[in-house]
Parts: sequence; structure tokens; C-alpha cells
Amino acid sequence: MKKEEKKKLLDELKEEMRRDTTLPLRSGATNLVFGEGNPDSKILFIGEGPGYWEDVKGRPFVGNAGALLNQLLYSIKLPREEVFITNVVNYRPPENRDPLPEEIFAFEPYLNKMIKIINPKMIVTLGRYSMGKFITNAKISSVHGRRHIVDWEGKTITVIPMYHPAAGLRNSEVKRQLGVDFQKIPQILEEASQKIEVEQMNLV
Ligand code: URA
Repeated sequence: MKKEEKKKLLDELKEEMRRDTTLPLRSGATNLVFGEGNPDSKILFIGEGPGYWEDVKGRPFVGNAGALLNQLLYSIKLPREEVFITNVVNYRPPENRDPLPEEIFAFEPYLNKMIKIINPKMIVTLGRYSMGKFITNAKISSVHGRRHIVDWEGKTITVIPMYHPAAGLRNSEVKRQLGVDFQKIPQILEEASQKIEVEQMNLV
């Protein structure tokens, strides 16, 4: 699918979400934080949920955790506009509490559609809630930074779970680990892209 087509479908999905009055957390939020970035990105970052500034601005990762995410992206020369960034819940939980399982569940069909439209070669999960979507029964402290080849809705996706940047702001060792894990992204992305090309060649 062409980039313009992906953009159009994402815009439509955002509108559909905006109109969906059944979504939890909607009444307490200022803005929907759908996600943003390159609709044709090879890499998708999935965080947890909007905080104060994300709710005010309607954009993901624009507060303190976002500043660290920007630094981490910069450290691997990956411009933020080149990637796509979203969350497992798209309205701010009150007082920044953790999203509840039923809230994640309610937003999930939209996230699934988003993933199908963007069709990334690789997904980086930030924190345990987005990790839980792809990797079950894992402890983030044991699996962070490790490549997981996941069968998701009949499609093979490379997933790398990482700590949430907000955890990095609270703990310097976690921040150091995030830095180390991010350095692995370019190589894993390259390999994931090549693997997909080989699979496509085998199909023709
Ligand atoms: N934390 C998240 O998980 N997502 C955001 O968008 C901002 C902070």
C-alpha cells in the first residue's frame, strides 16, 4: 500500500475513534492521542497511555518521557518524524494511573487496525503493557532489548520489548539499559527488512 493511502486510512481511523463514544477514559480526557509519525514507517513504537502533556496537546510522548524518547531516537540517528508512535490506550487515565485490562481491551481493535495499516517490519514496545500484547508471561527485566519473532494475526513481526522511558527517568540503571537497547535497533531493523524481502522473493 502506498504511503498516501496509509495516511488516508489512518486519518479515517482517527475520525472513527474520535466519534466512538463507547471508549473508556473519554469523558475525563481533553484530547484523543491517536499517535503520530510516518504512516509508512518500518518501525512502530507502542507506549502505555497519554500523560498530562499528551492529553493537553493530543500528541504522544511530548512530556518528560517524550524528551527521553527523543534523545534515544537521536542517539541512533532515527528522526522522530520517520517513525510512528502510539499507545495501548489513547485517552489519558486519571492521575496517570496504569491502564486497566478492560481499557486496553477496548482500545485494542483500533491498535490492531493501526498496525495492519502501517504494516511495520518491527515493533518496539515501551513498558510492560504494550509488551503484554505480544509477549506473555515475560518479565521486562529479563527480556528487554531481546528480539522476539512473533506470530501476530497470521503475520510474522519482529518485536523488541524495552523499558518505558518514564521508568528510565526514575532509575539511572534503567535509563542506561534503554540506551544500550536502543543501539540494537538499526541492526535488528535491517535484518527484519531483509528477512521480509527474502520471504517476498520466495512467494513469487
Ligand atoms: N507515556 C506513554 O506511555 N505514552 C505517552 O504518550 C506519554 C507518556
